Amino acid sequence: MTTYPHLFRPITLGHLELPNRVLMGSMHTNLEEARHGFDRLAAFYAERARAGAAMIVTGGIAPNAEGAVFHGAANLVQSEQVADHRKVTEAVHAAGGHICMQILHAGRYAYSPALVAPSAIQAPINPMMPRALEAAEVEQQIEDYVRCARLASEAGYDGVEVMGSEGYLINQFICQRTNQRDDEWGGSFDNRIRFTVEIVKRIRAALPENFLVIFRLSMIDLVEEGSTFDEVVALGKAIEAAGADVINTGIGWHEARVPTIVTSVPRAAFSEVTRRMKAEVSVPLVTTNRINMPDTAEQLLADGYADMVSMARPFLADPEWVRKAAEGRDQEINTCIACNQACLDHTFQGKLTSCLVNPRACHETQLLIEPAEAVRRIAVVGGGPAGLAAAVTAAQRGHEVTLFERQAQLGGQFNYARRIPGKEEFDETVRYFQIMLEKYAVDVRLNSEPSVTELACFDEVVMSSGVRPRQLELPGSDHAKVVSYPEAIMHPQRVGKRVAIIGAGGIGFDVAEMLTHEGASTPSVEEWCDEWGVDLSVAAPGGLTPPVRPEVSRQVSVLQRKASKPGKGLGKTTGWVHRASLKHRGVELLPGCEYVAIDDDGLHIRIDGESRLLAVDTVVVCAGQESVRDGLEALQAAGVSVHVIGGADKAAELDAKRAINQGVRLAAVL
Ligand code: NAP
Ligand code: SF4
Repeated sequence: MTTYPHLFRPITLGHLELPNRVLMGSMHTNLEEARHGFDRLAAFYAERARAGAAMIVTGGIAPNAEGAVFHGAANLVQSEQVADHRKVTEAVHAAGGHICMQILHAGRYAYSPALVAPSAIQAPINPMMPRALEAAEVEQQIEDYVRCARLASEAGYDGVEVMGSEGYLINQFICQRTNQRDDEWGGSFDNRIRFTVEIVKRIRAALPENFLVIFRLSMIDLVEEGSTFDEVVALGKAIEAAGADVINTGIGWHEARVPTIVTSVPRAAFSEVTRRMKAEVSVPLVTTNRINMPDTAEQLLADGYADMVSMARPFLADPEWVRKAAEGRDQEINTCIACNQACLDHTFQGKLTSCLVNPRACHETQLLIEPAEAVRRIAVVGGGPAGLAAAVTAAQRGHEVTLFERQAQLGGQFNYARRIPGKEEFDETVRYFQIMLEKYAVDVRLNSEPSVTELACFDEVVMSSGVRPRQLELPGSDHAKVVSYPEAIMHPQRVGKRVAIIGAGGIGFDVAEMLTHEGASTPSVEEWCDEWGVDLSVAAPGGLTPPVRPEVSRQVSVLQRKASKPGKGLGKTTGWVHRASLKHRGVELLPGCEYVAIDDDGLHIRIDGESRLLAVDTVVVCAGQESVRDGLEALQAAGVSVHVIGGADKAAELDAKRAINQGVRLAAVL
């Protein structure tokens, strides 16, 4: 008897019988364009199918060259390309899974000079202006979708997902915001949805009945002049009538200024829109966004929000998500913390997608965790992300591992991150590592700082002793009103009402966020929607409503010496959310500061040569870190084999992605 009876109840999609209700959602990995990328994609998807993902949807494949997300991105336009895709379908089928190919036409989001759209209206997130399609070209685009679906069938896919959300071409035809045509493809609602309905109808007519057609429907656009819910329902019904077998949920256009998947979005925040659609159509509905653990998924299905749940990033974080949930081992799930640091941030930088908590993601054929040839005694000194990753991986391989941590708890810098409002998911990573340490019998010694003599008894020593906060060097830096960021995070009651934060890196932003949150740190879905101006009933176009700004009792300024925009170095897909959130809270960002002194009056600075006093009660120092490598030289002198990783290796670019990656990769070869 499974703990999650709704999640593991079989479902019929079209002519397919699936053993559970988990759909692995579409993600572009950049393997689609890499050398031997399809071999690697085959291994990536097969690993997930083998562990029980019932249905997989591939990353978006364009139906023609102009529809590709960037110049040269993957398309499927001719028979010669089928062989590559067949590698993927054969691997997934051999692993007992099913896979559909997503057809994605980027329209005005295409990052290439040939971009086309219903009307020549530039997207705010693309420097290039699209060319408006002629009427005959619109017909050709539809035929290209059909050709792409035929080729997908030839390649052995079980079906296609037609990407109709996130602001891509189909969305651009549907909404007045982007469609100002006056022919049969624009103007009235019926004309604007004609493109979409024709695509579904013609794919259905061209492909055998047992070929699945999933449609990803934008249920809340989160942009001005987006659809109302009445329009979404009318479109859903039209798509069903046109022959779609399944409707998947899409949330928000890429140009929306409302976050939809970052870690501060509450779990399952948008599933309400799928629930509302349930009453309107009879094909199976899939809900999505910020679902990362089995209990959330189970609850949504039990409460009738949807027939299936879609998760994408959680399958990067843990390929065995489904198997672990099925076996009641959900505490062993390596949970996606929705940080975007190694997935979407990479994708948008043209790098291969991976995962902060699982560096093997998309590197399945290269980063192998195999049983060790000879068992060694390994000491890991420091239980932050780098040390935890190294200890667990080494123990998984069969080594005898002892983990020393000088603090009373494991987690290192994650113990600060997890206390930041909106970053509660970081708890899951610490929980995961703790469970894995137990499972692989790592000898964990807390409050422990081993001597050189003690460490010299091990075959290998991994030094992951982390960092210490950098201290200020200026008059008054020892004043009573100066606190370090660990102190501010662990004891916020020691921080006054008027605050200056020195340093505008990730931690400066985090501390500002924490100090401007009142009461409970985790907002309810309703509170979160109020702050960001989201109306889940989608009464107004796009589901937008005037935001309600949070009440803040602290006055906070964040300072940096550089003249550049504060927060510039934050993640590509998350930095804007952090900046917007601080703006909602009235936080002042001050670049170009010269720090002069701290005294009873406050913090004295100079900006553009002009002196200024910030009359603050507290100065929080978030000025980066320095490596801690105590005892390294003595160990080396004693001839001990030492490996330095994480912040101990390099404090300047310290982040958990690098730390975990380094820990896993080192332990994979020890
Ligand atoms: P950081 O990003 O390197 O920022 C340090 C800040 O301190 C900078 O604003 C720097 O700006 C300033 N600074 C450096 N030396 C200084 C000095 N001697 N005196 C005064 N100011 C000084 O480091 P962090 O904020 O501590 O974050 C550490 C790592 O954690 C980052 O690499 C980041 O990847 C990760 N992290 C990321 C996030 C996120 O993305 N949301 C959140 C938390 C942590 P100036 O030199 O211009 O003054
Ligand atoms: Fe999730 Fe972060 Fe991994 Fe992306 S990098 S899959 S958001 S944990």
